[in-house]
Amino acid sequence: MTDIHPQPTALRRVVWAGRGMPASDGAGVRLTRVIGQPTLPDLDPFLMLDEFGSDDPEAYIAGFPDHPHRGFETVTYMLAGRMRHRDNKGNEGLLTAGSVQWMTAGRGIVHSEMPEQEQGLMQGFQLWLNLPARDKMGPPRYQDIAPEQIPTVSPAPGVTAKVIAGRFAGVSGPVEAGATEPVYVDLRLEAGAAVEVPLPPDHNAFVYVYEGAAGVAGQALEQGMVAVLGRGGAVRIDADHGARLIVAAGKPLHEPVARYGPFVMNTNDELRQAFADYQAGRF
Ligand code: FE
Repeated sequence: MTDIHPQPTALRRVVWAGRGMPASDGAGVRLTRVIGQPTLPDLDPFLMLDEFGSDDPEAYIAGFPDHPHRGFETVTYMLAGRMRHRDNKGNEGLLTAGSVQWMTAGRGIVHSEMPEQEQGLMQGFQLWLNLPARDKMGPPRYQDIAPEQIPTVSPAPGVTAKVIAGRFAGVSGPVEAGATEPVYVDLRLEAGAAVEVPLPPDHNAFVYVYEGAAGVAGQALEQGMVAVLGRGGAVRIDADHGARLIVAAGKPLHEPVARYGPFVMNTNDELRQAFADYQAGRF
């Protein structure tokens, strides 16, 4: 009897690498826009990745007062600090260090995201993930994920992974994923460590180095650099001097994107409708 093994999918390579750009959003929160800026406008289904991180209250204290969203998901991952969330449906929650809020805006919410601290470090990420046309006008939904709900695994010596979404190293992240079947992993590599992160072959994927420096598919990335990966299977990551990184992947939607500020639809008519609905208080 012969075992027939499928050909292993080739390791992914880096097809583009660069840096985010400084930006300001909300009422004046200073951040780094990694995806959603001129050199990396989007990476279907990812629309935006912002990194915020400062111990200067001036950089974050103004927060994100009431603003709308329609047509996509926002994923807030806090590394340090406290952020209070309130919306127009009466939902409220406190995002603490290590927690994730996965918000599916669907047909629309109006919310605020305000720091609940006046000093100290505020650090984290907000990722925007597109929804397919059929889900854009669905009901808004929150998945508030406490730090202890996020499995931490060690897939290789000197490597720690927090699996927020998707499957890695035998565990599944707590996020109940939609059509884009996202993978979202926070990796920490000690000096000299290496790991392969398997990713679904048809997903678009990126790696963002937020601390230290790493080799991503053999390419050196310093802190603050993002690598867009080509198609394939796993990505190999190593770190001579230690690194912390986000690895994310999502199934591309291949749909037209009509986007203006906090509204992401498929057509300009749908964008106009979003404005009209928001202004009429229909969110
Ligand atoms: Fe928001």
